[in-house]
Amino acid sequence: MEVEAGIQAMRVSRRAFVWPLLGLPGLAAQDYASLRDAMVREQIEQRGIRDRRVLAALRATPRHIYVPPQFRAQAYADHPLPIASGQTISQPYIVAVMTELLAVEPGHKVLEIGTGSGYQAAVLARLAKHVFTIEIIPELARVARAIFEQQQLRNITVREGDGYKGWPEEAPFDRIIVTAAPPSMPQALLNQLKPGGKLVAPIGTADQELMLFQKDQAGRITKKSVLPVRFVPMVPGKQ
Ligand code: SAH
Repeated sequence: MEVEAGIQAMRVSRRAFVWPLLGLPGLAAQDYASLRDAMVREQIEQRGIRDRRVLAALRATPRHIYVPPQFRAQAYADHPLPIASGQTISQPYIVAVMTELLAVEPGHKVLEIGTGSGYQAAVLARLAKHVFTIEIIPELARVARAIFEQQQLRNITVREGDGYKGWPEEAPFDRIIVTAAPPSMPQALLNQLKPGGKLVAPIGTADQELMLFQKDQAGRITKKSVLPVRFVPMVPGKQ
């Protein structure tokens, strides 16, 4: 009896010890919620993101759902994380900066290039009318689509394909966000932006800059550099 109890206790404590290390889905929903709250306060608000709608969207989006189970305990930490197929989910602060720069309004149609984990699209879906997102790796497109369905995010449409071409059937877009880095801004994407529209993208190869492009009513493009960043490259699709 005593030996039994001892073994039980050992099993329990070993599990309690191993789970945090592996970051297995051991946390309760309210723990994730408080980690998320701290993330928004300490990593995002304190660094100067002020847009109330952006902060609310980040508070409402369960980032841990979008990361692989072994990284869930780190989902609200201040760095990017690996997802499947050698890709990454951006640092929360970078997601916040890009989302704030886009200044998405409730009636907007948004195009995202690089669905990845789906997290950025999920944040945008809380701000926009509809988000169209393109992912070149079929497995990532499939997983993201399944999560959107499970999260009941019905205003996101995922397409598997090459983001360099944009989404001509749905163009023009009020806002475009590129979350993989092309060496220079693809003209097809600028063409699919509405007059008055904004586009945010990391541009470059070894050294990348986050750039904000704006198209005025006459169709003229202005651009400004926001900050140095490091994204996975935007890979050319098959012709
Ligand atoms: N927005 C994502 C970040 C994804 S990382 C998130 O919130 O998790 C960049 C993604 O862009 C990767 O999934 C990569 O496969 C994808 N990608 C790279 N080149 C692409 C291309 N030409 N077209 C579409 N997606 C591309």
